[in-house]
Amino acid sequence: MILSVHATFGAAVASLMPTHPLVGFVLGFASHFVLDAIPHKDYKLISLDTGPDKELKLIDLIQKKFSLIRDVILVSFDALVGLILAFMFFFNPEHPFVFLLGAVGALIPDFLTFLYLLFKHKSLGHFFDFHINVIHSKTELNLNQVLGVCCQFFTLAVLIAILFGSRYLIFS
Ligand SMILES: [Zn+2]
Repeated sequence: MILSVHATFGAAVASLMPTHPLVGFVLGFASHFVLDAIPHKDYKLISLDTGPDKELKLIDLIQKKFSLIRDVILVSFDALVGLILAFMFFFNPEHPFVFLLGAVGALIPDFLTFLYLLFKHKSLGHFFDFHINVIHSKTELNLNQVLGVCCQFFTLAVLIAILFGSRYLIFS
């Protein structure tokens, strides 16, 4: 799923355990895999579409550079929106860093995957396999990118309602 959805859900999960920030971080990290296992539609990263550099002409290389810049801006914006939503909905003034630990924990799997795609270092190979080939849903919803993102936020709202609804039922 997209970074803003991961960060918000990670903060939501961590906010359930405000006095245990480390547990919140681990739960945020684990929440990433729960979300990725749900069928969804991600936005497209166009820089991942082109082949190896040596087969490309100069014009293709320039285009690839622009695609990369566009993707970096998009992904950074996505992560920033996630941190803002996480802060808006799950900031707890008594435990001010818990929302951030949950959000960062939830973003780490995609960051590690990005590092693997960038450097192809084999120390991250098993993690990449687990994250993308084992956990990540193989079902891509047949939606355009805008509807795909809307659908992810709808899923997020449902999951947060389930999370806080069950907490209410358990503790009341
Ligand atoms: Zn992921």
